[in-house]
This record gives sequence, structure tokens and C-alpha cells, in this order.
Amino acid sequence: MKNITALIACCHLFIVSYSQLEEDAMKYAETIKQEELYDKLSILASDALEGRETGERGQKMAAAFISDHFKRLGLTPPVKQGSSYSYYQPVPLYSSMPGNIYLMVSGEKYDNFNKIAYYGTYHSEGEKEIEAVFVGKGSEQELNQVDVKGKAVIIRIDNPRGWRTPHKLAKEKGAMISLIVTHATDSEFNNYSEMLKDYLSNGRLSLEVPKRQKTNQGIFMIAPSVAAKIVSSKVEDLNKAADNGRLKKVKTGMLKYQIKQKKIEVSTENVLGYLEGSDLKDELLVLTAHYDHIGRHGDKINNGADDDGSGTSAIMEIAEAFVKAKEEGKGPRRSILFMAVSGEEKGLLGSAYYTDNPVFPLENTVVNLNIDMIGRIDREHKDNSNYIYLVGADRLSTELHEISEKVNETYTQFELDYTLNDENHPDRIYYRSDHWNFAKNNIPVIFYFNGVHEDYHRPTDTIDKIEFELLTKRTKLVYYTAWVLANRNDRLVVDKLQEQEIGNN
Ligand SMILES: [Zn+2]
Repeated sequence: MKNITALIACCHLFIVSYSQLEEDAMKYAETIKQEELYDKLSILASDALEGRETGERGQKMAAAFISDHFKRLGLTPPVKQGSSYSYYQPVPLYSSMPGNIYLMVSGEKYDNFNKIAYYGTYHSEGEKEIEAVFVGKGSEQELNQVDVKGKAVIIRIDNPRGWRTPHKLAKEKGAMISLIVTHATDSEFNNYSEMLKDYLSNGRLSLEVPKRQKTNQGIFMIAPSVAAKIVSSKVEDLNKAADNGRLKKVKTGMLKYQIKQKKIEVSTENVLGYLEGSDLKDELLVLTAHYDHIGRHGDKINNGADDDGSGTSAIMEIAEAFVKAKEEGKGPRRSILFMAVSGEEKGLLGSAYYTDNPVFPLENTVVNLNIDMIGRIDREHKDNSNYIYLVGADRLSTELHEISEKVNETYTQFELDYTLNDENHPDRIYYRSDHWNFAKNNIPVIFYFNGVHEDYHRPTDTIDKIEFELLTKRTKLVYYTAWVLANRNDRLVVDKLQEQEIGNN
């Protein structure tokens, strides 16, 4: 009995021994509410935003919603634009898409994805003419039998994926274009071409203007009947000749072609809200979550409730908590930048743009806390949902890892899962979300993640599947970690440097 009393007294002592700073942290944590996260996510993940595709209407609507929230909170718009300041950091993106592309053989015209499919980045101003020569399977020996310099080569391959080697050989020997016959019949080719169309007709967004081929003009995958027509032969004869490996008579023919590319410019934006700190205001914390997603697939909308509506809502709520604290004289000592990032799904483009064009000096950026998907439970944790994966905390700063653990112990008591932080883990998560662009600049990061689930990048990633209680608690973990990092006396020590840049997620 006595012992128990002593124990209770001891626990009581422990509870009252929270410092003033810790009590303040808990007070403002209470402003992070499940209903408010729901309200925000119900807008971000609604059908009206059409899956928030980068550069499209839904993304613009999401950006307006987030910047409006920042404005109502009274966060500072930090991005200088002309003589005023904005919440938006414009991110110019580029892409190249196939334009008017065709082959013309003896007066017959084949448009792209109709018996032919162009693969390359060459751009011809107008129509050109070229001599084509059949080179069987395009082996070294076959290519040596004919002069291919400045010509188009017709190569009949056995396996549709086997075009690289013969194309490379032909290119080395000076061939201008490779016309690859991938299948024995036109109907087989047509099926293949449908697949190529999906893959080749949408350009890939990038931060750089796409480069165009200068010397070699790329590849046309073509149906066997087109190849036969070019050299005035029969499909069976070409198949036979390729199988024999020797070309009795060199087969040649003329063809006309045009390859036009459309350059596309896409404009998107990161949304930034700044809260100035007090005595250590030159030092900055950056809290990030990507707010755009992958749009539609046909008539199906990818709502991206978890990815990353959950993280975006969390950032908005955390901002609110810090603003309220500041209004009551408890503002953070260091400044905090709340940043909803764009283009993550396209290759971490928005965060790369920010770290290439930082609004606040990277030297003064002490940490990046990045959230991407924190509203769900993955298969591994079906029986224990009180978890979160942390990635990156110990990679640059031992201290950050220790602080993060201590914060969790004090306030949230999650099971912190470091499986994905293993340097040898095949998923390479450390390099796969926006925090990487900070980490590669030797800024310590923590990435918060619930793991992949069956609705990942599917139209079924919807709000009804979000675990709001869990989302609220995970949001608080990030908030508490930010609170401690913003208010402690010393700046985080970076005791390990990022030695090599391992990009290419
Ligand atoms: Zn994501």
C-alpha cells in the first residue's frame, strides 16, 4: 500500500514536472483537432479538385485553398514578386510531346500510332526524304554488309524489347533513323502500338527545357507491312531473310517522313507561409507536404486523400497551432516556413526548385520535417496501428534522432518504425520524397510516413479510408518535434555529412 502511494506520488511529481515550455507545447497541441483536419481534407480530396494534377485546374484550386488559409492565419507571404510579396513560388516546368509525326511510303501516309510509333526527341522542321535499307536482325555482321551511313535502317527483331543493341550498333555506323520491326504480323504490332501510345504520348515533366536529338533522329517502331512496302517486298520474305541471317540481295527503298515535337510549358507553384521567430529568427525550420497529386485516369479521379492530402492538412493545422501560440506571446524562437510543395509525384520537382531557388538561405535552414501519407495503416501494422515510419532522422544529425525519440516518448508514445530508414532497404525511401532535396544539401530531415497500402496511387485513395484519430495524433508528433526544434537553445548539430549525391529516385 505504501509503496503504491509512493509510486503515485512519484508519478504525480513526474506530471507536474513538465516545464513551462512543455506545458505550452501541450496547450497549443490541443488546437490540432480531428474535425479541422477532416474539414481541410474533405476539400483537398474532393472530386471538385480532380486529383490535383500538377499544372491543372484542381492543383490551382488546392493552391488557392492553402494560401487562403495561410492568409487568414496571418502568416507572412515570403516570395518577392516585383514590388510585392506572394504565398506562391512559381515553378516553371517543361515537357515535350509528339506533334505531327508521320511516315510516307509510295504515296501512302502512316500517322503516328497507326502502324508506326515514334520514339525519340528529334524535331524536323518540315518533311524530309531518306533512303532506307533492310539489315535483317541488325547484327554487327549484317550491318557490315551494307553502307548505312546517313540512311534509315530497317531491323527485324525477335523480341520487342530487343531493339537497343541493334539500334546502338546502327547508330555507331552512322545510320540516321532505326525502323524497328517488332512483330511478325500487323495485328500483333497494333496491340503493341496501343501500349506504346499510352507510354509515349504524354510527355514527362521536368525542370529543364527538354533536349532534342541532334545527330541521330531516333526510332520508329513499325508494322511488318510498312517495312515490306518501303523495300517493295513481302512480309514473309522479310521475316525469312531476317531468319536466314544473310541478305541475298540488298533491299532498299525511299521514304518521306516528318517528326514534329510540341514543347509544353506547365506552370505550377509551391505555396509558402512564413512565421517569424523571436530571438533566433534568422534560423529556419521548413515543414513540407506535397499538395498536388496524379489527377485522373480516364473518368476516374485519384483523390489522393492519404497521398498527400493527409500531410497537407497536417501542415495547415500545425501552422494554426504555432500562430495561436505566437498570438499569446508563446511564438517560436526560430522562424518556421510552412510549405505545400508541388510536383512531388513528377520527380520531387517543386522541392528541387525550392532548394535551387531558396527563399531563405539554406545555410540558415536547420531542419526539414516532411510529411507524405500519414492517414492510413499499412499491412505490416494491421494489429498495431499506433505506429509511424520515420526516415532520415539519424542520417545527418545524431542529435535530431535523439530529440525526435525524446519528443515521442514525452508526448505521443508511438511505436517508431525505422524499417524504411535502413540504408539497404530496397525501397530507398530516403531519396523518394521532398525531404531528399534538403538532405542532399546537408540539412537534417525527418520524413513521416505510414507506408504503402493497396490504394496507393489509385482512385480508391479516398477520405472515407482515413483514420482521423491516428492522423491527428501523428500531426501532433510532427508539431511537437517542430516545437522543440524551434525553441531549444542550440542549433542542431550536423555530425555526418551527405557525401555523395545519390539522386535518381
Ligand atoms: Zn506522395
